[in-house]
Amino acid sequence: MKTMTCRQLGGPCDLGHQGETADDVINAQDRHLKEAVKAGDETHVPAREDMKGRWKHPVKSMGWYRDMKKAFAELPED
Ligand SMILES: [Zn+2]
Repeated sequence: MKTMTCRQLGGPCDLGHQGETADDVINAQDRHLKEAVKAGDETHVPAREDMKGRWKHPVKSMGWYRDMKKAFAELPED
């Protein structure tokens, strides 16, 4: 397992997401952003909008995914 924080994934806080793959932590971050914004957390709104834009424009967002996968691959195992 590896841990990637909200901040490393483009968000504003230091909450850690654990996962076996980059997709696991990206999905965890997506859930976290949705929940934070639903709970009225304004600081997570820009990251939530960015994430929504990525789902809508997957081709344009390939660079971001590549960067996240690379960052995840370079993390030490927990
Ligand atoms: Zn966060």
